[in-house]
Amino acid sequence: MSTIAPLPLLEPQPRARRREHERLRLAKRLRHQVGRAIADFGMIEDGDKVMVCLSGGKDSYTMLDILLQLREKAPVSFELHAVNLDQKQPGFPEHVLPDYLRALGVPYTILEQDTYSVVKRVVPEGKTMCSLCSRLRRGALYSHAEAEGFTKIALGHHRDDLVATFFLNLFFHAKLSGMPPKLRSDDGKHVVIRPLAYVREADITEYAIARDFPIIPCTLCGSQENLQRKQVARMMAEWEKETPGRIESIARALGDVRPSQLSDPKLFDFLALGLRGDAPLPDAHAWLAGTPHDGGDDA
Ligand code: SF4
Repeated sequence: MSTIAPLPLLEPQPRARRREHERLRLAKRLRHQVGRAIADFGMIEDGDKVMVCLSGGKDSYTMLDILLQLREKAPVSFELHAVNLDQKQPGFPEHVLPDYLRALGVPYTILEQDTYSVVKRVVPEGKTMCSLCSRLRRGALYSHAEAEGFTKIALGHHRDDLVATFFLNLFFHAKLSGMPPKLRSDDGKHVVIRPLAYVREADITEYAIARDFPIIPCTLCGSQENLQRKQVARMMAEWEKETPGRIESIARALGDVRPSQLSDPKLFDFLALGLRGDAPLPDAHAWLAGTPHDGGDDA
């Protein structure tokens, strides 16, 4: 009777090596998603001078990190310049970003503007300050971009931000509109890009931990994000828990809009659809004026 020799036990892969392997795979996925977003929306072209807005949060660190990696093998040549606005919140650790950027060898500028005092003065006690704070921050960054001749302004919003903004507009402002991956600023002077538009927030969180970015919290001022945003975030988290993949599906839908299947006559010419003659159509007033009124309820 032959005996089967026991299989040699496989050496368990050292944990550190496995972690490194996962980190590399995650970095590869992020490079792929950012590269795809850049290509899909024509975010960066040859000779661009990109101002990378760095807040000290996980998103903007990740954006800069991935853009630096992509630039090494990019098909075009472009500059990356990190810019942070020191808004003078109490306790802001001023040295963290300069130390980090110097070590990285990335050119950078720290702008100083005491928007904190303005916000504190203008916003009533107990109200959320984030909206005015962000507006002031945007103004300062845009002015700097104009003064320095940056051709693109890169912001670190990610896929989940895009979806959350879509629902905020839908639920609280009754419009189908969101946060586009690329846009021209209202004054027409700047092109804003969001290279993380395809990236999941959970992946950014994981990447930021793996890369050990020196995160500066955005709550130094004690302000909290507004209630509506929190409601939407909670709703999205619950959906994702109950139906994994739903947020990705919504994000994909934002890139597959069919105006003829919605109800906005400014986007699709419903009036002309199926017209049989050239005669001008009577407008709503004419239709209502001709409505017989029986004295009862309109309903
Ligand atoms: S948490 Fe504070 S610093 Fe961050 S956006 Fe809100 S008000 Fe501004």
